[in-house]
Amino acid sequence: MEARVRRNMHTCRNCNQSFQTELALELHRDTCKKGQLFCQVCGERFREGTATQDGWHYECPNEDCDGDGLQEDLYRVEDVRTTTH
Ligand SMILES: [Zn+2]
Ligand SMILES: [Zn+2]
Repeated sequence: MEARVRRNMHTCRNCNQSFQTELALELHRDTCKKGQLFCQVCGERFREGTATQDGWHYECPNEDCDGDGLQEDLYRVEDVRTTTH
């Protein structure tokens, strides 16, 4: 008798790549090229395109979060990395 298959994939919201474990997803998110922006208010990462409509005003796409403004609440992951060296 076939057991019920639990589909418990962990999918990166930024690039839609799927991972078997939550840990694998966490590791991926550190290097995901499509999750370039980081919100310091809620800690979420997302694609630049999801945070801005016009390339000028940026706000956190997380509905529960009111973080906005590039270099205010939102940072590019690369920038964060380069400033800590
Ligand atoms: Zn990804
Ligand atoms: Zn946020």
